[in-house]
Amino acid sequence: MNDFRAAGHAAVDLLADYLGGLAEGPVWQAMDPAARERLLGLPLPRQGRGLDQLVRDIGADVLPYPMGNGHPRFFGWVNAAPAPAGVLATLAAAAMNPSSAGGDHADVHLERTVVRWIAELAGFPHPPGAGLLTSGTSMATIVALGTARDRAARALGVDVREEGMAALPPLVGYVSAETHSCVRKAAELLGLGSRNLRAVRTDAAGHLDPVALREQVRADRAAGLRPFLAVASAGTVNTGAVDDLAAIADVCAEEELWFHVDGAYGAFGVLDPVVAHRYAGLDRADSLALDPHKWLGVPVDCGCVLVRDAEELRGAFSLVPSYLRDEKADGLRWFSELGWFSEYGIEQTRPFRSLKVWATIAASGREGISRDVAHCTAMARRLGELVAAAPELELVAPVETSITAFRFAPDGVSADRLEGVNRRLAVAVQERGRAFVTGTVLDGREALRACLINPAVREEDLAVLVAEVRAAAAELLAAG
Ligand SMILES: *Cc1c(COP(=O)(O)O)cnc(C)c1O
Repeated sequence: MNDFRAAGHAAVDLLADYLGGLAEGPVWQAMDPAARERLLGLPLPRQGRGLDQLVRDIGADVLPYPMGNGHPRFFGWVNAAPAPAGVLATLAAAAMNPSSAGGDHADVHLERTVVRWIAELAGFPHPPGAGLLTSGTSMATIVALGTARDRAARALGVDVREEGMAALPPLVGYVSAETHSCVRKAAELLGLGSRNLRAVRTDAAGHLDPVALREQVRADRAAGLRPFLAVASAGTVNTGAVDDLAAIADVCAEEELWFHVDGAYGAFGVLDPVVAHRYAGLDRADSLALDPHKWLGVPVDCGCVLVRDAEELRGAFSLVPSYLRDEKADGLRWFSELGWFSEYGIEQTRPFRSLKVWATIAASGREGISRDVAHCTAMARRLGELVAAAPELELVAPVETSITAFRFAPDGVSADRLEGVNRRLAVAVQERGRAFVTGTVLDGREALRACLINPAVREEDLAVLVAEVRAAAAELLAAG
């Protein structure tokens, strides 16, 4: 273990320098082609290298080329800077390397606790067993929609696990144009069929319209279809809009639909008293998917699915193979009434995700996390003011949580040319290296969206972003 100790110390020094120096360097830069080739073409080594050499290799060939998301001026997609506590915990978790499928070891009990903590932070009810950590919200959504499908099938007298989808009439779910693509993927994978996901009308700011939802459900039911699910967003990826969860919960209760909320990016916004009111009704969902690896800064990967009813979740996934069964009958000490996590989802061997969640939350506490979240939403609103004050920029959506969506729109330039400039603008800003923002299409128009989830962001960083966008846009416009 001596070489591990020495290389480990060197690794920690390297990483402390890396994390400490990130803000000084470019946010992102295209990889040097030779360095890219070195990684792409690495031959399978014939002989091993020492740990100290591996640490040096990481320092030379990997750390210089980050995605950019550790930098305070990274505003792209929804990718967090890692919480240092989570980084350290990742090392310890790997050193123990359990499978968190079940049993009586620290990781299993810690996961029960952090899932409860996540539910408490998000303000979601949490009976024991009603949730688990996942790779991300894509997987959490598969678990949630699988449970919803199971309930809908039972109501029709079908055991879908045994009989499959062929035994069921098409089940219809409701989403909006702003619903994340992971919902469609889950519907496709679960055999629901993406054509049975209906896009409900949204208002001008991208909120699913609960009145239209009710009308569509009733019309579909009258036409002989089987509505079973509505999906709302607690923070859309494009603009951070939070749907009217309470009104959608009302429709779901009246129409007996499973109410799923996608809070991947935005659920923790509820911790900011300034925006908390937008989340009213979140606690009425049947399932909530959310990503500690986004706003909380838990190192990737870590998603979480929470459900209202633990038994429904277990009923949809429990399958105990013979080599694991009968722990209760045998009086094994690690038996728990809740059974194994592997009975509540897809994965059997499961990583020790809970340690980095525990560390990240414990390092800040509820108050620290709430302060960070509130800082991010305040910075997003401040960016909105800077955009509104810049003559050639315009906001394209209200700033509801911590995403600011805007576009370059000076007077006297044709709509076609503006579309061309805005389409290329995000990459042009990225290549300049001083800020990183990504683009999207909103209401059929090209736009930028800056996502603020790094608590290290300062007002000066926002000014740099605005200046960079203006400069890059002016260049694109001049180049025709
Ligand atoms: C990121 C995101 C997802 C997908 O989650 P993954 O963790 O990437 O699987 C779904 N919905 C929203 C709103 C997101 O921001």
